[in-house]
Amino acid sequence: MLLYDNLDINTAGHLTIGGVDTVALTEEYGNPLYVMDEDQLRQNCRAYTQAMAEHLPEGSQPLFAGKALCFKGLYPIIESEGFGADVVSPGEIYTALAGGFDPANLYYHGTAKTDWDIRYAIENGVGWFIVDNENELEALDRIAGEAGIIQNILLRITVGIDPHTQEKINTGRIDSQFGVAVDTGQAARFVARSRELRNVRLQGYHSHIGSQIFEAQPFLDQVDRLLDFAADMRTQFGFTAEVFNLGGGFGVRYTEEDPQVDIEGNIRRIGEHLRKGCTAFGYPLPRILMEPGRSVAANAGLTLYKTTGVKEIDGYLNYVTVDGGMTDNIRFALYRADYTMTNASRMNEEQTYLCTVAGRCCESGDRIAENIYLQKPVRGDIIAVLGTGAYNYSMASNYNRVPKPAMVMVSGGQSRLVIRAQNFEDMIACEL
Ligand SMILES: *Cc1c(COP(=O)(O)O)cnc(C)c1O
Repeated sequence: MLLYDNLDINTAGHLTIGGVDTVALTEEYGNPLYVMDEDQLRQNCRAYTQAMAEHLPEGSQPLFAGKALCFKGLYPIIESEGFGADVVSPGEIYTALAGGFDPANLYYHGTAKTDWDIRYAIENGVGWFIVDNENELEALDRIAGEAGIIQNILLRITVGIDPHTQEKINTGRIDSQFGVAVDTGQAARFVARSRELRNVRLQGYHSHIGSQIFEAQPFLDQVDRLLDFAADMRTQFGFTAEVFNLGGGFGVRYTEEDPQVDIEGNIRRIGEHLRKGCTAFGYPLPRILMEPGRSVAANAGLTLYKTTGVKEIDGYLNYVTVDGGMTDNIRFALYRADYTMTNASRMNEEQTYLCTVAGRCCESGDRIAENIYLQKPVRGDIIAVLGTGAYNYSMASNYNRVPKPAMVMVSGGQSRLVIRAQNFEDMIACEL
């Protein structure tokens, strides 16, 4: 039930994260509350930086995927851990820069960049564009030309791997709205066109095959397909890629049923596979970029709610209602994501009370979990949802005019506020 190593139970019978009492955190900072364990976050970063330094070609680097978690105070942490950053919008660029991040180490993604977006990124010195399609390529070349710069780019290609079926050349992947497909021949034209343009400099390829992937094999297949494509492009156009960006996707353990991904082991296998493939093709080793989001942030975070009590519908089910829900964690409502939960106020009791945990919104889909076992709560108990460090705060909304919760960071047994809770004035601040 204590899913992660950074969790424990103290003498008060309360859940602790990074040695800090979670119930005490809500007393100090309010509720609901996002909590991030900075030490765990840094440890997760180091799993990538160390394994990539050891097993991948020189110059390889992890980039943190901001879509998983994005706020100003995060950027100095990931930068100090040697990460670059993947950003998907001007808003994420703005946030990274506000956190003091080096724009040269930003990689700008997105399938629908407007001219304004492109200009914003160029004016702010974003080092790399990951170009999604030919419309963007032409616009980027024009705008870079106007700005008098030559923009470094990677091309986003779709290599036709569906990690969840292990089937290659799966149409479900080829018809993705992201990137340009290899199998239709369009990716080759994309390369040819980018080589003709004068204000962009093609450095390599990007591909992202999915998320919450537990095996290494899909990534090895991805490396094969990228190498095949790169070798073909070298033959056709004399272009040798210096960078392969493999995207994100390593899975995390949300429940006891989920396996633990061996980040170091996966990266070692990717490295071995890449070297073998490059030798076979006589292709110079490209440096490798990876874009982990979930596997860096998820298990470093949890969410604390105060329960407003139980509602027992005789002969049907029991609800535990909490003071947050789909506004701060939309993943159950969106795709029935599984989480592990516990009553942080009663850690010494058995989790035997079968219940569905419902949020505060006027929406029957507002649930965090269905049919789970908790220590039976009373009104005022603190309920913890584990593994919410990724895709929770970054997806939060103000539905039902619920303000976004605060976030605290714990480190070395101390806590500090990194995001204050929204207040009502914040919510009407844009309204004239
Ligand atoms: C979502 C995404 C990521 C991050 O994926 P995780 O599963 O969170 O590691 C990285 N790169 C791209 C292009 C993505 O779309």
